[in-house]
Amino acid sequence: MVKKFSANAHNIINRCANSLIDFLFPASCPICGAAVSTNGELCADCWVGFNWIGNPKCEKCGYPFPANIDLGNQPLCPNCAAGCCELDLIRSACVYDDVSRSVMLPFKHAGKIRYSYFMSRAMIWTLRDVDIKPDVVIPVPLAYKRLFHRGYNQATLLARPIAKAFGVRMDLSSLKRKYRADMGHKNAKQRMENVKGVFNVINPENIRGRKILLVDDVMTTGATFSELRHVLMKAGAKEVYGVTFCRIVRAI
Ligand SMILES: [Zn+2]
Ligand SMILES: [Zn+2]
Repeated sequence: MVKKFSANAHNIINRCANSLIDFLFPASCPICGAAVSTNGELCADCWVGFNWIGNPKCEKCGYPFPANIDLGNQPLCPNCAAGCCELDLIRSACVYDDVSRSVMLPFKHAGKIRYSYFMSRAMIWTLRDVDIKPDVVIPVPLAYKRLFHRGYNQATLLARPIAKAFGVRMDLSSLKRKYRADMGHKNAKQRMENVKGVFNVINPENIRGRKILLVDDVMTTGATFSELRHVLMKAGAKEVYGVTFCRIVRAI
């Protein structure tokens, strides 16, 4: 009886505290500040501004197709049909364009970490209908020098809720990245060369036999994922998947 009473009292206190927090800090859209039902979620106006990647898309790399295309049961982009995608699966929540760039840059460089809530939710959403069961989630690491100057790894902020959604651990210690000057606007071949050899597996016992989901904020050419996949498979990984918030979509 006492237990029941104290549980009820606890619930009432919690509800009052939440109401007070809602009153003092009403939930608002992280981009425009409009009222929303849950803190961190986008308002409808901001949501429709993004070019979310739906169907049809390449079932392997997630490349978005024109709406009227019909490739049958196993839709693959020309790259994947030719066996060029090295990862077992890649998904991105939206296309990199003016709208996604306007949140990516402050998220990455100006400390707008509150964007991570809706970004990671969109990434979880894009993985909802894929048949993967990762054992571990690994955010693409930053070189220590960059981490020191930025103060946070944006990929880690996105990876944490994704690991939670899959019910698996996030591994921050098995991969290290060496510092190398910014890739800027290099082409695919130059980016591939630039990223070659920058990653090291520190704890191969955490990688061996595992299905690994890599998390990053943006996919440009896929060079980073390809290099990571190479390094992880060499260390004995079983499968390697990748998910990003947005991706640059070029004509193929
Ligand atoms: Zn808004
Ligand atoms: Zn593809």
